Amino acid sequence: MSRQRELGRGERVIPGLWRLRLPLPWPGVPHCNAWAIAARSGVVLVDTGMHEPGSMAQLERAMDQVGLQVEDVRLLACTHAHSDHWGQAAPICERAGCQLWMHPNHGHATAAAGDPAQALARRIEVARQSGVSDAALARYADRARELPSGVARAIEPDRPLCNGVEIETDLGVWTAYETPGHAPSHVCLYQPERRLLISGDHLLGRISLYFDYGWTPDPVGEFLSSLDSTAALGARLCLSGHGKPFVDVPGHIEGNRKLVAQRLAAVVTALAQAPRTAVEISPSVYGEPLTEYNGSWLLAQTLAYLTHLERQGRATRETRVGVERWSAA
Ligand SMILES: [Zn+2]
Ligand SMILES: [Zn+2]
Repeated sequence: MSRQRELGRGERVIPGLWRLRLPLPWPGVPHCNAWAIAARSGVVLVDTGMHEPGSMAQLERAMDQVGLQVEDVRLLACTHAHSDHWGQAAPICERAGCQLWMHPNHGHATAAAGDPAQALARRIEVARQSGVSDAALARYADRARELPSGVARAIEPDRPLCNGVEIETDLGVWTAYETPGHAPSHVCLYQPERRLLISGDHLLGRISLYFDYGWTPDPVGEFLSSLDSTAALGARLCLSGHGKPFVDVPGHIEGNRKLVAQRLAAVVTALAQAPRTAVEISPSVYGEPLTEYNGSWLLAQTLAYLTHLERQGRATRETRVGVERWSAA
């Protein structure tokens, strides 16, 4: 299936801050954003776009449109270690001779990039426990082995981007806020005088939820706490990892809370016919059957909700013959 790919595009958001819109090969997610912020003689770059054939040329093209080049990058900061935000970090740092700052909980990506076979084996084990058939697992494994990682080379940060770390730019100081949930390594960057929030995938203009499952105790709970800390900032304009910048940040935060509550309610409803596996629960939560394409995504999301309910004492799991079955508590 071929489709018209976007091209890298650069545009000024406000003086001294540019949106670099970089194409992605994923259905339904045509691009991601990197942000360039003027900083003395060059720029601070936030996020990278994913690595794939031609991806560096797309970044160059987007930067060139706003009079910048990769060599102008004085510091690279990544909101989180997903391939579309960190995948090109290694070649950018090499070319620009700059440091990478990123949150230290990047094992969900660096471990996987360092040993893809092990990461795949781990995903398959989770799927098996969740009730996926051996035939479906074999089909998924064949397909997954073919998929490119989107990461040029696993590169670790020169400095941990944790709560309170400051990044100096011509627009003022940006402060890092840890916002785990979407990914364990997620941070937002906030500029308080201008009330600008670089939100990565923590807040998106078109609300959609994703949780990295299996790296932290309760990604959904962590995400809800992260929403509380973001809400307390009082941002006026949100520069998100995908889509256009948007205002009404409180409305988007509320929308995220509502969607989490809806999903949790759907999982609770599905548990009425317990005990059930995550494979049996997923289709009723998402209103679509599991396939080898959406399966690993929807299953991980369902497991994240089930784990959250378990921690709240609202669901229990029981393992029999290697398969987990969930019931309402
Ligand atoms: Zn992400
Ligand atoms: Zn993303």
